[in-house]
Amino acid sequence: MLFNCICISFSPADKHTKQVRAGSGVLEFRNISHAYGDRLAVENVSLKARAGEVTCLFGPSGCGKTTLLRLAGGLMPVQAGEILLDDELIGGKGRDIAPEKRAVGLVFQEGALFPHLTVAKNVAFGLSGPDKQAKAAELLALVGLAGFEKRYPHTLSGGQQQRVALARALAPEPRVLLFDEPYASLDTQLRRDLREQARRMIRRTGTIGIVVSHDPEEVLEMADSIVVLEEGRLRQSGSPAQIHDQPATEKIAAMFGNGQLLPADYSDGAFRHVFGDWSATCLSGPEPVPGPVSLVVRPDALELVKDANGYPVVDVRLAGVTMTVHVEAPGGEGLRVSVARSAGIEPGERVRPMPVPAGIFAFARSEA
Ligand code: ADP
Ligand code: MG
Repeated sequence: MLFNCICISFSPADKHTKQVRAGSGVLEFRNISHAYGDRLAVENVSLKARAGEVTCLFGPSGCGKTTLLRLAGGLMPVQAGEILLDDELIGGKGRDIAPEKRAVGLVFQEGALFPHLTVAKNVAFGLSGPDKQAKAAELLALVGLAGFEKRYPHTLSGGQQQRVALARALAPEPRVLLFDEPYASLDTQLRRDLREQARRMIRRTGTIGIVVSHDPEEVLEMADSIVVLEEGRLRQSGSPAQIHDQPATEKIAAMFGNGQLLPADYSDGAFRHVFGDWSATCLSGPEPVPGPVSLVVRPDALELVKDANGYPVVDVRLAGVTMTVHVEAPGGEGLRVSVARSAGIEPGERVRPMPVPAGIFAFARSEA
Protein backbone atom coordinates (compact mmCIF):
# COMPACT_ATOMS: atom_id res chain seq x y z
CA MET A 1 0.00 0.00 0.00
CA LEU A 2 1.05 3.55 -0.47
CA PHE A 3 0.02 6.49 1.58
CA ASN A 4 -2.81 8.89 1.08
CA CYS A 5 -1.22 12.21 0.79
CA ILE A 6 -2.59 15.65 0.14
CA CYS A 7 -0.28 18.58 -0.39
CA ILE A 8 -1.13 22.22 -0.20
CA SER A 9 1.10 24.80 -1.77
CA PHE A 10 0.43 28.49 -1.78
CA SER A 11 3.59 29.80 -3.24
CA PRO A 12 5.68 29.13 -6.28
CA ALA A 13 8.34 26.48 -6.16
CA ASP A 14 11.03 28.93 -5.40
CA LYS A 15 14.04 28.19 -3.24
CA HIS A 16 14.21 31.67 -1.78
CA THR A 17 10.58 31.69 -0.66
CA LYS A 18 11.10 28.29 0.82
CA GLN A 19 14.06 29.41 2.91
CA VAL A 20 12.31 32.50 4.14
CA ARG A 21 9.26 30.63 5.24
CA ALA A 22 11.05 27.62 6.68
CA GLY A 23 10.17 27.29 10.34
CA SER A 24 7.67 30.14 10.30
CA GLY A 25 4.50 28.54 8.91
CA VAL A 26 1.49 27.63 10.98
CA LEU A 27 -1.64 25.80 9.87
CA GLU A 28 -4.38 26.60 12.32
CA PHE A 29 -7.76 25.00 12.85
CA ARG A 30 -10.05 27.35 14.75
CA ASN A 31 -13.23 25.99 16.32
CA ILE A 32 -13.81 23.52 13.53
CA SER A 33 -17.03 21.48 13.58
CA HIS A 34 -18.22 19.19 10.83
CA ALA A 35 -21.38 17.13 10.39
CA TYR A 36 -22.32 14.45 7.87
CA GLY A 37 -26.08 14.79 7.68
CA ASP A 38 -27.17 15.21 11.27
CA ARG A 39 -24.18 13.30 12.59
CA LEU A 40 -21.51 15.47 14.14
CA ALA A 41 -18.10 14.02 13.21
CA VAL A 42 -15.89 16.84 14.50
CA GLU A 43 -16.83 19.17 17.30
CA ASN A 44 -15.18 22.49 18.00
CA VAL A 45 -11.60 21.43 17.39
CA SER A 46 -8.83 24.03 17.56
CA LEU A 47 -5.20 23.19 16.93
CA LYS A 48 -2.02 24.54 15.40
CA ALA A 49 0.48 22.64 13.30
CA ARG A 50 3.90 24.22 12.84
CA ALA A 51 6.40 24.21 10.02
CA GLY A 52 9.23 21.73 10.25
CA GLU A 53 7.26 19.66 12.74
CA VAL A 54 5.14 16.56 12.62
CA THR A 55 1.77 17.03 14.24
CA CYS A 56 -0.01 13.72 14.76
CA LEU A 57 -3.78 13.47 14.90
CA PHE A 58 -4.33 10.42 17.03
CA GLY A 59 -7.44 8.54 18.04
CA PRO A 60 -9.53 5.45 17.36
CA SER A 61 -11.24 4.79 14.08
CA GLY A 62 -14.16 7.14 13.50
CA CYS A 63 -12.92 9.93 15.80
CA GLY A 64 -12.73 12.48 12.97
CA LYS A 65 -9.08 12.41 11.89
CA THR A 66 -9.70 12.01 8.16
CA THR A 67 -12.43 14.63 8.28
CA LEU A 68 -9.93 17.17 9.65
CA LEU A 69 -7.41 16.29 6.92
CA ARG A 70 -10.01 16.58 4.18
CA LEU A 71 -11.00 20.00 5.48
CA ALA A 72 -7.36 21.11 5.55
CA GLY A 73 -6.91 19.86 2.01
CA GLY A 74 -9.96 21.74 0.79
CA LEU A 75 -11.72 18.56 -0.28
CA MET A 76 -14.88 19.66 1.54
CA PRO A 77 -16.08 23.12 2.47
CA VAL A 78 -15.65 24.17 6.08
CA GLN A 79 -19.07 24.19 7.74
CA ALA A 80 -18.16 25.90 10.99
CA GLY A 81 -14.93 27.47 12.17
CA GLU A 82 -11.91 28.56 10.18
CA ILE A 83 -8.70 27.15 8.79
CA LEU A 84 -5.79 29.55 8.46
CA LEU A 85 -2.39 29.23 6.94
CA ASP A 86 -0.02 31.83 8.32
CA ASP A 87 -3.01 33.86 9.48
CA GLU A 88 -4.54 33.82 6.02
CA LEU A 89 -8.03 32.35 5.85
CA ILE A 90 -8.06 29.37 3.49
CA GLY A 91 -11.28 27.68 4.60
CA GLY A 92 -14.38 28.89 6.42
CA LYS A 93 -16.69 31.90 6.44
CA GLY A 94 -17.70 30.95 2.90
CA ARG A 95 -14.15 31.40 1.65
CA ASP A 96 -13.03 27.92 0.71
CA ILE A 97 -10.02 27.99 -1.57
CA ALA A 98 -10.38 25.19 -4.12
CA PRO A 99 -8.05 22.22 -3.75
CA GLU A 100 -6.40 22.90 -7.11
CA LYS A 101 -5.75 26.50 -6.06
CA ARG A 102 -4.09 25.08 -3.02
CA ALA A 103 -2.10 22.90 -5.41
CA VAL A 104 -3.45 19.90 -3.59
CA GLY A 105 -1.80 16.67 -4.58
CA LEU A 106 -3.54 13.47 -3.69
CA VAL A 107 -1.90 10.10 -3.40
CA PHE A 108 -4.23 7.22 -2.81
CA GLN A 109 -3.43 3.93 -1.14
CA GLU A 110 -3.81 2.02 -4.36
CA GLY A 111 -2.20 3.19 -7.53
CA ALA A 112 -0.57 6.13 -5.88
CA LEU A 113 2.03 6.16 -8.63
CA PHE A 114 1.27 6.23 -12.34
CA PRO A 115 2.19 2.71 -13.46
CA HIS A 116 3.01 3.72 -17.05
CA LEU A 117 5.43 6.48 -16.02
CA THR A 118 9.00 6.04 -14.86
CA VAL A 119 9.92 6.89 -11.31
CA ALA A 120 11.45 10.20 -12.43
CA LYS A 121 8.35 11.15 -14.43
CA ASN A 122 6.13 10.25 -11.51
CA VAL A 123 8.08 12.61 -9.27
CA ALA A 124 8.23 15.34 -11.95
CA PHE A 125 4.53 15.01 -12.76
CA GLY A 126 3.34 18.15 -11.02
CA LEU A 127 6.38 20.22 -11.98
CA SER A 128 7.01 22.52 -14.87
CA GLY A 129 10.06 24.26 -16.26
CA PRO A 130 13.25 23.08 -17.87
CA ASP A 131 14.85 21.83 -14.68
CA LYS A 132 12.06 19.51 -13.64
CA GLN A 133 14.01 16.32 -14.37
CA ALA A 134 16.96 17.60 -12.38
CA LYS A 135 14.63 18.47 -9.53
CA ALA A 136 13.08 15.00 -9.64
CA ALA A 137 16.54 13.44 -9.48
CA GLU A 138 17.43 15.65 -6.52
CA LEU A 139 14.30 14.61 -4.64
CA LEU A 140 14.89 10.95 -5.40
CA ALA A 141 18.39 11.27 -3.98
CA LEU A 142 16.93 12.88 -0.86
CA VAL A 143 14.67 9.89 -0.24
CA GLY A 144 17.54 7.49 -0.90
CA LEU A 145 16.54 6.43 -4.41
CA ALA A 146 19.28 7.95 -6.57
CA GLY A 147 19.67 5.89 -9.71
CA PHE A 148 16.06 4.69 -9.75
CA GLU A 149 14.95 7.37 -12.25
CA LYS A 150 14.30 5.05 -15.18
CA ARG A 151 12.64 2.25 -13.23
CA TYR A 152 8.90 1.64 -13.36
CA PRO A 153 6.78 1.47 -10.18
CA HIS A 154 6.02 -2.26 -10.53
CA THR A 155 9.73 -3.05 -10.32
CA LEU A 156 9.98 -1.44 -6.87
CA SER A 157 9.21 -2.82 -3.43
CA GLY A 158 6.28 -1.38 -1.46
CA GLY A 159 8.65 0.67 0.65
CA GLN A 160 10.48 2.07 -2.38
CA GLN A 161 7.16 3.01 -3.98
CA GLN A 162 6.28 4.73 -0.74
CA ARG A 163 9.46 6.76 -0.92
CA VAL A 164 8.75 7.72 -4.53
CA ALA A 165 5.32 8.87 -3.40
CA LEU A 166 6.94 10.96 -0.67
CA ALA A 167 9.33 12.52 -3.22
CA ARG A 168 6.42 13.27 -5.52
CA ALA A 169 4.43 14.85 -2.72
CA LEU A 170 7.41 17.05 -1.89
CA ALA A 171 8.12 18.04 -5.50
CA PRO A 172 5.83 21.08 -5.72
CA GLU A 173 7.33 22.28 -2.42
CA PRO A 174 4.04 22.15 -0.56
CA ARG A 175 3.65 24.23 2.55
CA VAL A 176 1.61 21.48 4.14
CA LEU A 177 1.92 17.72 3.83
CA LEU A 178 -1.00 15.67 5.04
CA PHE A 179 -0.58 11.95 5.63
CA ASP A 180 -3.56 9.73 6.34
CA GLU A 181 -2.58 6.49 8.11
CA PRO A 182 0.49 6.43 5.90
CA TYR A 183 2.12 3.21 6.90
CA ALA A 184 -0.80 1.12 8.08
CA SER A 185 -0.13 -1.99 6.03
CA LEU A 186 3.66 -2.08 5.86
CA ASP A 187 5.83 -4.26 8.05
CA THR A 188 7.45 -2.94 11.20
CA GLN A 189 11.02 -2.23 10.11
CA LEU A 190 9.92 -0.61 6.87
CA ARG A 191 7.42 1.55 8.71
CA ARG A 192 10.13 2.70 11.07
CA ASP A 193 12.45 3.64 8.19
CA LEU A 194 9.72 5.47 6.30
CA ARG A 195 8.58 7.36 9.37
CA GLU A 196 12.10 8.54 9.99
CA GLN A 197 12.45 9.55 6.37
CA ALA A 198 9.17 11.49 6.33
CA ARG A 199 10.13 13.18 9.60
CA ARG A 200 13.55 14.17 8.30
CA MET A 201 12.08 15.58 5.09
CA ILE A 202 9.50 17.62 6.96
CA ARG A 203 12.19 19.07 9.21
CA ARG A 204 14.64 19.71 6.46
CA THR A 205 12.18 21.40 4.13
CA GLY A 206 10.32 23.35 6.81
CA THR A 207 7.04 21.82 5.74
CA ILE A 208 4.01 21.66 8.02
CA GLY A 209 3.48 17.94 8.50
CA ILE A 210 0.21 16.49 9.72
CA VAL A 211 0.09 12.74 10.13
CA VAL A 212 -3.03 10.80 11.00
CA SER A 213 -2.48 7.59 12.91
CA HIS A 214 -4.26 5.29 15.33
CA ASP A 215 -1.01 3.57 16.31
CA PRO A 216 0.35 4.94 19.61
CA GLU A 217 3.83 3.63 18.96
CA GLU A 218 3.96 5.32 15.57
CA VAL A 219 2.70 8.54 17.10
CA LEU A 220 5.26 8.56 19.93
CA GLU A 221 8.05 7.91 17.45
CA MET A 222 7.01 10.39 14.83
CA ALA A 223 5.32 13.34 16.45
CA ASP A 224 6.68 16.61 17.70
CA SER A 225 3.17 17.37 18.82
CA ILE A 226 0.24 15.03 19.43
CA VAL A 227 -3.44 15.88 19.25
CA VAL A 228 -5.64 13.20 20.80
CA LEU A 229 -9.19 13.05 19.48
CA GLU A 230 -12.10 11.12 20.89
CA GLU A 231 -15.51 11.09 19.23
CA GLY A 232 -14.75 14.22 17.26
CA ARG A 233 -13.51 16.17 20.24
CA LEU A 234 -10.01 17.18 21.21
CA ARG A 235 -9.14 15.41 24.44
CA GLN A 236 -5.53 16.38 24.97
CA SER A 237 -2.68 17.91 23.04
CA GLY A 238 0.99 18.23 23.83
CA SER A 239 4.45 16.82 23.27
CA PRO A 240 4.87 13.04 23.19
CA ALA A 241 6.41 13.22 26.69
CA GLN A 242 3.44 15.19 28.03
CA ILE A 243 0.89 12.80 26.53
CA HIS A 244 2.81 9.75 27.75
CA ASP A 245 3.69 11.02 31.22
CA GLN A 246 0.65 13.14 32.03
CA PRO A 247 -2.28 11.47 30.25
CA ALA A 248 -5.52 13.37 30.75
CA THR A 249 -7.86 10.40 30.62
CA GLU A 250 -7.90 6.72 31.44
CA LYS A 251 -8.10 5.84 27.76
CA ILE A 252 -5.07 7.95 26.86
CA ALA A 253 -3.11 6.49 29.77
CA ALA A 254 -4.03 2.99 28.62
CA MET A 255 -3.26 3.57 24.92
CA PHE A 256 0.23 4.96 25.39
CA GLY A 257 2.76 2.68 27.05
CA ASN A 258 0.69 -0.54 26.86
CA GLY A 259 -1.31 0.43 29.93
CA GLN A 260 -3.43 -2.21 31.63
CA LEU A 261 -6.60 -1.38 33.50
CA LEU A 262 -6.92 -2.62 37.03
CA PRO A 263 -10.13 -1.86 38.95
CA ALA A 264 -9.36 -0.85 42.53
CA ASP A 265 -10.80 0.81 45.60
CA TYR A 266 -9.05 3.79 47.05
CA SER A 267 -9.21 4.59 50.73
CA ASP A 268 -6.85 5.56 53.57
CA GLY A 269 -3.97 6.23 51.17
CA ALA A 270 -4.02 2.75 49.61
CA PHE A 271 -5.35 1.11 46.47
CA ARG A 272 -6.90 -2.32 47.09
CA HIS A 273 -7.30 -4.74 44.20
CA VAL A 274 -6.87 -8.37 43.15
CA PHE A 275 -3.08 -8.12 43.38
CA GLY A 276 -3.10 -6.83 46.96
CA ASP A 277 -2.66 -3.30 48.28
CA TRP A 278 -0.50 -0.56 46.86
CA SER A 279 0.37 2.62 48.68
CA ALA A 280 -0.60 5.96 47.16
CA THR A 281 3.10 6.78 46.79
CA CYS A 282 2.96 4.76 43.58
CA LEU A 283 0.64 7.36 42.11
CA SER A 284 1.49 9.71 39.26
CA GLY A 285 -0.85 12.62 38.70
CA PRO A 286 -3.66 13.85 40.91
CA GLU A 287 -4.98 11.86 43.84
CA PRO A 288 -8.47 10.46 43.18
CA VAL A 289 -11.34 10.88 45.59
CA PRO A 290 -11.76 7.82 47.81
CA GLY A 291 -13.95 5.14 46.23
CA PRO A 292 -13.86 3.00 43.09
CA VAL A 293 -11.04 3.86 40.67
CA SER A 294 -9.46 2.49 37.53
CA LEU A 295 -5.74 2.11 37.82
CA VAL A 296 -3.72 2.28 34.63
CA VAL A 297 -0.61 0.16 35.05
CA ARG A 298 2.14 0.01 32.47
CA PRO A 299 4.27 -3.14 32.30
CA ASP A 300 7.48 -1.18 32.81
CA ALA A 301 6.14 0.61 35.89
CA LEU A 302 6.00 -2.59 37.92
CA GLU A 303 8.61 -4.62 39.74
CA LEU A 304 8.34 -8.21 40.86
CA VAL A 305 9.26 -9.29 44.36
CA LYS A 306 9.72 -13.03 44.79
CA ASP A 307 7.29 -14.13 47.49
CA ALA A 308 6.09 -17.66 48.30
CA ASN A 309 2.72 -16.17 49.26
CA GLY A 310 2.50 -14.13 46.05
CA TYR A 311 0.81 -14.75 42.71
CA PRO A 312 1.81 -17.38 40.18
CA VAL A 313 3.83 -16.57 37.08
CA VAL A 314 1.91 -18.23 34.26
CA ASP A 315 4.06 -17.24 31.30
CA VAL A 316 7.34 -15.52 30.45
CA ARG A 317 7.90 -13.97 27.02
CA LEU A 318 11.06 -12.50 25.61
CA ALA A 319 10.71 -8.85 24.56
CA GLY A 320 14.16 -7.77 23.36
CA VAL A 321 16.38 -6.74 26.26
CA THR A 322 13.53 -7.26 28.70
CA MET A 323 11.04 -10.02 29.23
CA THR A 324 7.34 -9.84 29.84
CA VAL A 325 6.12 -11.82 32.83
CA HIS A 326 2.44 -12.73 33.04
CA VAL A 327 1.20 -12.90 36.61
CA GLU A 328 -2.26 -14.19 37.49
CA ALA A 329 -4.60 -13.32 40.35
CA PRO A 330 -6.82 -16.00 41.95
CA GLY A 331 -9.82 -14.84 39.92
CA GLY A 332 -7.87 -15.25 36.67
CA GLU A 333 -7.11 -11.55 36.16
CA GLY A 334 -3.74 -11.10 34.51
CA LEU A 335 -1.02 -8.47 34.76
CA ARG A 336 1.92 -8.07 32.38
CA VAL A 337 5.17 -6.98 33.98
CA SER A 338 8.29 -6.01 32.10
CA VAL A 339 11.51 -7.03 33.86
CA ALA A 340 15.19 -7.38 32.98
CA ARG A 341 16.12 -10.75 31.55
CA SER A 342 18.68 -11.04 34.33
CA ALA A 343 15.81 -11.14 36.86
CA GLY A 344 15.64 -14.85 36.07
CA ILE A 345 11.95 -15.34 36.69
CA GLU A 346 10.44 -18.65 35.59
CA PRO A 347 6.88 -19.85 35.04
CA GLY A 348 5.49 -21.43 38.20
CA GLU A 349 7.31 -19.08 40.58
CA ARG A 350 5.32 -16.88 42.91
CA VAL A 351 5.79 -13.14 42.86
CA ARG A 352 4.22 -9.94 44.11
CA PRO A 353 3.86 -7.13 41.52
CA MET A 354 4.74 -3.75 43.05
CA PRO A 355 4.56 -0.40 41.26
CA VAL A 356 7.59 1.85 41.05
CA PRO A 357 7.13 5.25 42.75
CA ALA A 358 4.93 7.54 40.64
CA GLY A 359 4.42 4.69 38.19
CA ILE A 360 0.66 4.35 37.95
CA PHE A 361 -2.34 6.50 37.12
CA ALA A 362 -5.70 6.50 38.86
CA PHE A 363 -8.97 7.73 37.38
CA ALA A 364 -12.36 7.87 39.06
CA ARG A 365 -14.60 5.01 38.01
CA SER A 366 -17.99 6.46 37.22
CA GLU A 367 -19.88 3.28 36.35
CA ALA A 368 -20.79 1.38 39.49
P1 ADP B 1 -11.28 8.65 11.31
O1 ADP B 1 -10.46 9.08 10.14
O2 ADP B 1 -10.75 9.13 12.62
O3 ADP B 1 -11.50 7.17 11.32
P2 ADP B 1 -13.46 10.01 9.97
O4 ADP B 1 -13.12 11.46 9.95
O5 ADP B 1 -13.27 9.25 8.74
O6 ADP B 1 -12.73 9.32 11.21
O7 ADP B 1 -14.99 9.85 10.39
C1 ADP B 1 -15.55 10.51 11.53
C2 ADP B 1 -17.03 10.13 11.61
O8 ADP B 1 -17.73 10.63 10.49
C3 ADP B 1 -17.28 8.63 11.61
O9 ADP B 1 -18.36 8.37 12.46
C4 ADP B 1 -17.64 8.33 10.18
O10 ADP B 1 -18.49 7.22 10.11
C5 ADP B 1 -18.34 9.59 9.75
N1 ADP B 1 -18.13 9.86 8.31
C6 ADP B 1 -16.95 10.05 7.70
N2 ADP B 1 -17.11 10.32 6.38
C7 ADP B 1 -18.44 10.29 6.16
C8 ADP B 1 -19.25 10.51 5.00
N3 ADP B 1 -18.71 10.81 3.83
N4 ADP B 1 -20.59 10.41 5.17
C9 ADP B 1 -21.14 10.12 6.37
N5 ADP B 1 -20.44 9.93 7.48
C10 ADP B 1 -19.10 10.01 7.40
MG1 MG C 1 -9.52 7.95 8.69
